[in-house]
Amino acid sequence: MKNILVTGGCGFIGSNFIHMMLRCRPQVRLVNLDKLTYAGNLRNLEEVASDPRYRFIKGDICDQSLVDGLFAEERIDTVVHFAAESHVDRSIEGPGAFIQANIVGTFALLEAARKHWLAASPAPEAPRFVHVSTDEVYGSLGDTGYFTETTPYDPRSPYSASKAASDHLVSAYFHTYGLPVLITNCSNNYGPYQFPEKLIPLMVHNALKGAALPVYGDGKNVRDWLYVEDHCEAIMAVLAGGTPGQTYNIGGNNEKQNIEIVQLICDLLDEQLGRLADGRARRDLITYVKDRPGHDRRYAIDAGKIARELDWRPKVGFEEGMRRTLQWYLDHREWVESVVSGDYQAYYQRMYGER
Ligand code: NAD
Repeated sequence: MKNILVTGGCGFIGSNFIHMMLRCRPQVRLVNLDKLTYAGNLRNLEEVASDPRYRFIKGDICDQSLVDGLFAEERIDTVVHFAAESHVDRSIEGPGAFIQANIVGTFALLEAARKHWLAASPAPEAPRFVHVSTDEVYGSLGDTGYFTETTPYDPRSPYSASKAASDHLVSAYFHTYGLPVLITNCSNNYGPYQFPEKLIPLMVHNALKGAALPVYGDGKNVRDWLYVEDHCEAIMAVLAGGTPGQTYNIGGNNEKQNIEIVQLICDLLDEQLGRLADGRARRDLITYVKDRPGHDRRYAIDAGKIARELDWRPKVGFEEGMRRTLQWYLDHREWVESVVSGDYQAYYQRMYGER
């Protein structure tokens, strides 16, 4: 039985990961530590709340005594660290929260692991600390080339800089103390439970309402997209077979321009629901808005290492993943309405104004 601390389990990827682990790994106990920021939603885990292998703790990863207490009380031998402030636009508006959660929070977890795993007697068997990070730490690519695990870091936003800092800290704990850490750098995820400020759920939500679809700049920024369950399987593969001290890039080999994504969402919704009530196609809702400062042009991942060493490859094709995602949002409209409230609304107005 492994005792796994999942941080940020009420967010998008964390909640998908918890569902998958409880489904696929009977021999685990999961403790989910989440502060429930605007992005954390307990409803994401309603169905597993009464599972005896699962426990939720509301708290901040920066709270060292809380984290130390959990390591001791729950005999934590594995960490899968998702908790973070994760939205680039918010990091431009207010970087302070990103420094706290992403750097100071990661530091508190590393310190707890160092104390409870390396200085403990008896030491836990085969402990592992998986730090979930992003391809944005590598900066921006031109029209060609891919990020590999040896690409030098060149973060451009406060978000990516804070994630880069946390990656360096995690790596330093391996080299300095021998802490068994593993780092994953993944491309853009999409799928169920994603907060509707990120590109795909934002566009789906607005396209359903017949509201404007704000696209940054010329819409030609390129991202690599991966279905969230493929990402969760990759993390499970790293947890089970990865080599401590190593970094694994994870990607979908699926580069798309932002505008292509928005057009696909419009077309799939028109196909499924028919056109808007006033007869317009949803593509007519697309509105180009002023570009994000420092907007990286292209990200693309070479995920060859994880394929070769851990036999992981993405399984869900892009159109299939998009169809599943749209269906999930159509079936869970009340989920979207419940998160699109208060703080998010105010933030949305500041970013995009009245539309
Ligand atoms: P998210 O914003 O949906 O969820 C983050 C979760 O962390 C929320 O539940 C929030 O309440 C919690 N949290 C934030 N600060 C906390 C704190 N101080 N203490 C405890 N909990 C806290 O994020 P996500 O999209 O699920 O991303 C998860 C991780 O994966 C992040 O580390 C992110 O950098 C990384 N990542 C995300 C993507 C992506 O496309 N979403 C891609 C690559 C890597």
